Amino acid sequence: MNATLIYEGKAKKVFATENPGQVLVEFKDDATAFNGQKKGQIAGKGVINAKISTHLFRLLESHNIMTHFVDQPSERVLLVKRLRMVPLEVVVRNIVAGSLKQRTGLAEGTSLAFPVVEFYFKNDELGDPLLNDDHIRAMNLASSDLTSRLKHEARHINDILQNYLNDRGLLLVDFKLEFGMADGVLQLGDEISPDTCRLWDRSSGKKLDKDRFRQD
Ligand code: UDP
Repeated sequence: MNATLIYEGKAKKVFATENPGQVLVEFKDDATAFNGQKKGQIAGKGVINAKISTHLFRLLESHNIMTHFVDQPSERVLLVKRLRMVPLEVVVRNIVAGSLKQRTGLAEGTSLAFPVVEFYFKNDELGDPLLNDDHIRAMNLASSDLTSRLKHEARHINDILQNYLNDRGLLLVDFKLEFGMADGVLQLGDEISPDTCRLWDRSSGKKLDKDRFRQD
């Protein structure tokens, strides 16, 4: 693209548009895991993640969830609203996997009695540590009102995605969301794709997400 690059992350590039309230997000084929320690390329990943994100943002919008999604101008690019990001990753878990298994000793695949919401501080130097509500308030990262709105919104999104994927033979094990503000309104940003979700085939248990890359 010949637009002005304003930010390049591990899996995406962000470009300015003529509208200061909107940016273009290009999904790269680069794959990283373990806070960038493992690096690779997966041909076509960017196109697939852009397509899945577009599909799921449209699904959420149809259920009255506010998202940054505006349009998909080309196969690996999304046009989105520019958000002032909350510096937290919001993780929702339905089934034990990944870091929850490490932290609790619960067996992978254990169903949780209710969706567990977690917050991680977006900070590469610190390795995105887990924070609780008090840490978030003490660090002035978000008010307690915003923290409870994030939890409520994340659970609502989980209900919608879980139902949708379940009907298609997929288990939504866990996923990560990022939120931001535009015009004073909280909106869902970033992406929703197999890079940010764990998805298991309901009948075979096969992993259909980034764990395939994490685990070679
Ligand atoms: N996740 C993510 N980005 C991150 C960390 C986690 O998208 O920087 C997603 C991950 O793909 C999984 C969920 O959040 O669907 C929970 O991840 P977990 O805490 O188990 O850590 P991980 O196994 O990714 O280290």
